[in-house]
Amino acid sequence: MTRTTPPRPHDLLGLFPQLDAQARTAIRLHPRLGEPTVDTSSIGGPLRWPADEPWPVCGLEHEDLCDEPFPDPGERVPEALIPVAQLYYRDVPGLPWPDRFDLLQVLWCPRDHPEGEAPYNPEFLVRWRTARSVGATIESAPVPLVCNENYVPTRCVLHPEAITEYPHRDAQAPGWKALGHGGVWGIIDPFPVACDCGELQLPLLTAVSGEFDGGTGSWQPVEEADTGWEFADPVDVLIGRGYTLQLYYCPAAEDHPNRAVMF
Ligand SMILES: [Zn+2]
Ligand SMILES: [Zn+2]
Repeated sequence: MTRTTPPRPHDLLGLFPQLDAQARTAIRLHPRLGEPTVDTSSIGGPLRWPADEPWPVCGLEHEDLCDEPFPDPGERVPEALIPVAQLYYRDVPGLPWPDRFDLLQVLWCPRDHPEGEAPYNPEFLVRWRTARSVGATIESAPVPLVCNENYVPTRCVLHPEAITEYPHRDAQAPGWKALGHGGVWGIIDPFPVACDCGELQLPLLTAVSGEFDGGTGSWQPVEEADTGWEFADPVDVLIGRGYTLQLYYCPAAEDHPNRAVMF
């Protein structure tokens, strides 16, 4: 079913016409509980992962105060990463380098990393692929021994919707999304999210503690207008005290390091 963002309650461009030049497309993913497959886009779902490619593991130091046994069954592998998002370009238009890739996979290590890209958060890993280049796929992914359960996404199918965002607090969609604008600086001082090569990096995926709340209820899809809080947090990931973790990419090259910022 389609999910549609309601018209904005304020005529932002009428108030601030200069924002028009800074419009960007964001793809609200609208994750909802479901049974995704390797052939579908998902949050926390199975990845189309080559059988002959080692499953990634984390090599960083961990802060173990919150670690619990990983909740799902599977072959236990120390420090195994877990799937966060699988995005087929056919579902999420605007992902970078469409002439070379049609599948984006994002994983993370579901533990706290004192020395991580965004300290005391899960640590991302990105794979750019073409789906047809993946021959035989792994039958099931290994799972880590322990995790911070706040970082284990509930398996969801996606209902992507393209919207227009502006660099303004009231004009950025809450919830899980791809592309769009950077977050609203508040818990840390602003800094340019720049690559070592000098390019400014761009938002790729936003992982967030819920789809909407009392302050952002105007973003609740019109198709679910009468459902109250039922779909407020299907993914059930908690970043910090309810924050947002945004993964960035370098537009110069896919193999430049990704950055992450918590807002
Ligand atoms: Zn780790
Ligand atoms: Zn770069």
